[in-house]
Amino acid sequence: MSAHRAARPPVRELMAGYVGVKFKTVRASREAARGTRALYADLRRAGERLAGYGMAPQNGGNMSVRLRTGFAITSSGSNLGSLLSEDVVQVEDCDLEHECVCYRGKLKPSSETFLHYLILRQHPAAGAVVHAHDPMTSRAAILAHGLVETPREEPYGTLALARLALDAFASRRRIIVLRNHGYVCIGEDLEAAVETIISTHRRLRAKKPIRCPQG
Ligand SMILES: [Zn+2]
Repeated sequence: MSAHRAARPPVRELMAGYVGVKFKTVRASREAARGTRALYADLRRAGERLAGYGMAPQNGGNMSVRLRTGFAITSSGSNLGSLLSEDVVQVEDCDLEHECVCYRGKLKPSSETFLHYLILRQHPAAGAVVHAHDPMTSRAAILAHGLVETPREEPYGTLALARLALDAFASRRRIIVLRNHGYVCIGEDLEAAVETIISTHRRLRAKKPIRCPQG
């Protein structure tokens, strides 16, 4: 009997409550531009680094890199710690009025595409945006550290959440926190954004636990 086995598609771990993208999509092509595909190694390495610090649970988090036309972004439902080449998708444009995303690639772009789009549009010096979950860090530690967080929660993948994040990036901040959700970070390139998130995570983890006052 042959030991050969057909390659199995990777199992995607999805977070509870995740229902995919919440916008309409138009696929211009199943092939992303060469510049997008060339980013795969960098994105995979960045995702593995985040996973190494416990910041890529299941399908939480997403990353984008600015391109000459639009931006490259991780696919909807992808696991950052084990990205595949088809997880790199090119977003050509977003129509906010009709909540529609035009993209190139085999898979749909990240459910947080609007978040990346708004930030890259508003911050021309930013080359990359990274959103990461940090389940090991408490909100108390985040606030004690003085990180800016959004004034409220909004459901994932919505324009409302994307706009809250954009507002929080005032005053040349490089990292903000989506309340009870995760970090969003701007970098001049992908490596810089990931470094900022990791250094923030390490500083927060180094803090002593905060005791709740008695009574
Ligand atoms: Zn998220």
